[in-house]
Amino acid sequence: MGAQQGRHLGPKSASLLDRHPEVDRDLTVALWLGITLAEFDRLAPLERDLWIKKWHAQQVCPDCGNPISECSDPERLWASYRRICYATMERNAAQDAYAGLHETAPFHDGTFTSWSKKRAGQHRFHFSHGVTICVADHDLTPWDPFTTERDASPIPPDPEETSEE
Ligand SMILES: [Zn+2]
Repeated sequence: MGAQQGRHLGPKSASLLDRHPEVDRDLTVALWLGITLAEFDRLAPLERDLWIKKWHAQQVCPDCGNPISECSDPERLWASYRRICYATMERNAAQDAYAGLHETAPFHDGTFTSWSKKRAGQHRFHFSHGVTICVADHDLTPWDPFTTERDASPIPPDPEETSEE
């Protein structure tokens, strides 16, 4: 059988596969489907595309994103690493600091400057309500030290008042 295959894959067909990787892929997909390349070529273009997409999806490991042929090889070595997002690190630290600052009296009256231990009366807002902590490459709200001062107001100062000082 090897000799027969050798006859079919002469230098002409080998260079055909090199020059047209999509032919190589179609052969693999046809083999995967258990049909011949000619049968695969006769499928409607949409169906061919769907099978190719399906085949591609099955080649990638859903757990690690590597080709399945690589990550299921028991002889292959893998090394773990940590990828760090310093912007997210900064945001998480700000979130923790903000939560820590409001641990004992978490409810405010809408001003962020008057706090209560219990949700009662005007103090019906939890410190997290409506608050999204973000990061930027510089301080966009320098008037609001929300991670260090419990009663910091989120409202920017009036520009006219500050210029009179
Ligand atoms: Zn994997």
